[in-house]
Amino acid sequence: MNTKNFKFTDFLVTKQPHENVPNDEQKKNIYELMLVMQYIRDKFGDKIIINSGFRSSKVNKSVGGATNSAHLYGYACDFVPYDISKMKDLQELCISLVKNNELNVDQLINEYPNKKGVASWLHIGLKRPKTNEVRRQIITITK
Ligand SMILES: [Zn+2]
Repeated sequence: MNTKNFKFTDFLVTKQPHENVPNDEQKKNIYELMLVMQYIRDKFGDKIIINSGFRSSKVNKSVGGATNSAHLYGYACDFVPYDISKMKDLQELCISLVKNNELNVDQLINEYPNKKGVASWLHIGLKRPKTNEVRRQIITITK
């Protein structure tokens, strides 16, 4: 299953030398995530690159992901605009969509922003692992 601008396989990419194959439940979650990303893509109006989506436990360990990361469930992805000069626009768009309740996500994370507050990449987690909470958190992670 693909959406207008995303391929299912975009959400399976990894540079790690491990298998990264989702089961049926994880596939369902990934598809739910794809629809959310397509919604953002439509609002943004420009190409978005998925750096990391679903992670098998081996892949997640290799990249130093959190032990109960939403990536393990297919519920999270890290992304950037294809045109990196539009990072601030994409970041502001995502923040406003969460604040205006247009985007029903558990977490929007601004990862490692520069001095101007522009994130290196964005993370969206649809649901909190285990509890499936949707907390609409907007978080910034710094080093
Ligand atoms: Zn992430």
